[in-house]
Amino acid sequence: MADKVKDPVCGMEIRPEDAAATEEHEGRTLYFCSHDCHDTFLKDPHRYGHPADEHGGHAHH
Ligand SMILES: [Zn+2]
Repeated sequence: MADKVKDPVCGMEIRPEDAAATEEHEGRTLYFCSHDCHDTFLKDPHRYGHPADEHGGHAHH
């Protein structure tokens, strides 16, 4: 039972071993379902690098 991870760009849940691409971001490894999602992330990493669902009431600045 491998843990599933979430592609931060499209929100799809994938298994790490099925990821088309990975990226280190601020000490964490992110997994992408496709190279398209990886490219999208690289264009705007700060938009996708901090999933909103991890810390519910995250203060906005
Ligand atoms: Zn994706």
